[in-house]
Parts: sequence; structure tokens; C-alpha cells
Amino acid sequence: MRTKTVEPITAEKLAGCGRCQKCSRGCPGHIDIPAMLEIYCKFQTGEKAALRPIKDFQKQGLPIYCIECGACTDHCPRHFDVRAAVKELAIQSMMQ
Ligand code: SF4
Ligand code: SF4
Repeated sequence: MRTKTVEPITAEKLAGCGRCQKCSRGCPGHIDIPAMLEIYCKFQTGEKAALRPIKDFQKQGLPIYCIECGACTDHCPRHFDVRAAVKELAIQSMMQ
């Protein structure tokens, strides 16, 4: 059972992301998570067009291939709720 407290990602918080890539390492979906988080933050500000670049990512790196394993969240030294952000992007990109 996970006991780590995680925080939702906002554009303000993402400024503290060190782009360390620890979230992407070991991602079974081979998702470029820091890049996705930038898209997620833009989308959160109401910019629907922010989702467009997702289609340019390699098929295997799409958010829809997230299996919600939570490894990204576990590895983030900033305690960001990375899994939840990727899941939201997966849902939103399917609705496009
Ligand atoms: S692990 Fe956390 S701090 Fe590092 S790149 Fe990913 S979101 Fe940013
Ligand atoms: S929760 Fe999703 S994005 Fe995070 S490591 Fe697992 S498959 Fe990758």
C-alpha cells in the first residue's frame, strides 16, 4: 500500500519540475511524461488546442497506453500526482 502523499499538478507546481525524467524511466507505456505534463498544464488553463501535439508522439508513447501502475508518481522527487495527470490526458485525448 502506498503511503506517500502526492499533490495534483498545476502550472505553478510544474515550475518546480526539475525535468529529471525519473517519472518516465520504467514507464511501461514508454510515455514522455515531462512533455505530457507541459501539455496537461496548458490544457488546465483552458487551452483546448494544447492537446493537439499529443497526436505527434509515437504511438506507444501516447497517454492512452498508461496502465495506471503509479511508478511515475512513486519516482517523482517532487511528489507530483503524475499518474492522475497522465490519466486525465488519456481521457481528454480520447474525447478529441
Ligand atoms: S519525476 Fe517529477 S520532477 Fe522529475 S521530471 Fe517527472 S514530474 Fe518532473
Ligand atoms: S502510471 Fe501510467 S504514465 Fe505512470 S509509469 Fe505507469 S504507465 Fe507510465
